[in-house]
Amino acid sequence: MKRRKFITGSSLAGAGVALSPASSLLAANGAEPIQADLLIKSARVYTMDGTRPLAEAVAVMGDRILAVGSNEDLKSLVGPGTREIDGTGTTVTPGFIDAHSHPDGSNEVTGANVNLRSIAEIKAAMHAQAAVTPAGQWVIGNKYDDTKLSEGRPANRRDLDEVVPDQPAILRHRGGHTAVVNSRGMKVAGITVNTPDPEGGSFGRENGELTGFVAEKALLDVIYNAGEWPEITRAVRQQGVALMSRAMVAAGLTSTTDSWGNVESLVAYQDARAAGELLTRLSFMPGGETEFFSNLKSAGIRSGFGDEWIRFGAVKYAADGSASERTMRMSTPFNGRPDDYGILTMNQAEIDAAVDDAVANGWRIGIHTNGDVAIDMALNAYERALQGWTGSNPRFRLEHCSLVNPELLQRIKDTGSVPTPFYTYAHYHGNKWVDYGPEKMQWMFAHRSFLDYGIPVAPASDYTPGPFEPLMAIQSMVTRMDFKGRVWGPNQRISVAEAMKICTINGAYASMEESIKGSIMPGKLADLVILAADPHDAIADEIKNIPVLQTIVGGETVFEA
Ligand SMILES: [Zn+2]
Repeated sequence: MKRRKFITGSSLAGAGVALSPASSLLAANGAEPIQADLLIKSARVYTMDGTRPLAEAVAVMGDRILAVGSNEDLKSLVGPGTREIDGTGTTVTPGFIDAHSHPDGSNEVTGANVNLRSIAEIKAAMHAQAAVTPAGQWVIGNKYDDTKLSEGRPANRRDLDEVVPDQPAILRHRGGHTAVVNSRGMKVAGITVNTPDPEGGSFGRENGELTGFVAEKALLDVIYNAGEWPEITRAVRQQGVALMSRAMVAAGLTSTTDSWGNVESLVAYQDARAAGELLTRLSFMPGGETEFFSNLKSAGIRSGFGDEWIRFGAVKYAADGSASERTMRMSTPFNGRPDDYGILTMNQAEIDAAVDDAVANGWRIGIHTNGDVAIDMALNAYERALQGWTGSNPRFRLEHCSLVNPELLQRIKDTGSVPTPFYTYAHYHGNKWVDYGPEKMQWMFAHRSFLDYGIPVAPASDYTPGPFEPLMAIQSMVTRMDFKGRVWGPNQRISVAEAMKICTINGAYASMEESIKGSIMPGKLADLVILAADPHDAIADEIKNIPVLQTIVGGETVFEA
């Protein structure tokens, strides 16, 4: 079959405006000289602009970058109204971009953050959360992770009973599929040690007692339908966006993506923006197969509609299971489970129809495809859609694109597709890669392979399941080393410079916004991060600990350490 090939190139930067010499910015005929609103000087500036990769100073006017150069080049832009930042000893990069996330945060407003490293700390957090939860309502802890606790065991029902004896309480796992519930919670749900497990779910039992562990349908269909849960109102959703926005800019993110948005979240982002609480720019990917998406199409909305703050990206579909929950669809089985190849959630005809519908309605498309079987199916549909294509590269997206091989890599390259593999998983979720084994891990989150094939691989956290912190992402992609010192797929390691490029200019490319962000060049949005140290100089295993000193979005400082 003849395939349409797109030139993407491995270097995305470099096709922009040259440095404007400061002297040329002087207005003609004796008018007032142009004055910068902000000047960062004496810093090590990584521009991601191939024509000038390193600079010393950046000048900003309004929400845009005015000039980039040496202190000397830019000093004539300083006037009485210029805010100056002495960047001596610091490193400046373009604002970091997350091309796949779920940042609406509404759940996090109504619970405690128990992303903590000991059961003792989790108990303290749940005790405090109980004090602010209305009587009778579930006391919620979010982002619980059983595999990283200093006690070396998961939390259980008794741990929760000690701090929340009289109200139902739950620790929700950050992956979303399991939880730990206290005794009162089990009682509210009518669960005893003799209750049979529901189809597709289970309650943990040990020595004739419930442990409090709840999985899959036992959580989704039983626990979530029992008792009184906090109401997620419009105001709560707005608070969620504000909360996440603050956390993300504190980590250096200036742009993120909602990779399965609905009408409620779209309203929440706009409410937060109107209140001055939206600090990160957002690419909004509506969920496909929804009434919401049908309505958007009927209204004539298409990808690209919006502005620099909230813009519609690709429509989002999901064709297979998950990497971290170990259900993605592969051509070979999971380690130790010879009959388990994972699950598909769309067939080829459904994928083809989704792609045709997106193209016909002016939408880009991103299909969640973790396993090699699912990726192959999405590529079949993309190759089919590209037959006879005469326009520019539609940049079809492969969400996650976790497990690849040389044949798939070549097809991804030829179709000009954009993969969004997990950028913090090798480091953060090491315990889960045992089920795949070292052989498969050589081809998972294959950042090295994508770069070697000249594929514009995008930065992607998939928050909440994955941490969004870009410095942890850079460390993870560089070291592939987990918390326990195990290395997963060392052949997929990339350099710090490559990781930083992925987290900036490649993120902009993934949302088709590389002309306005992703590098530090005159005319682009003034989205910048000031780091306390240069990741190139740091010990690779400590990159995630480099402090973010300041995050600037559109010329405004939105976070300061
Ligand atoms: Zn996702």
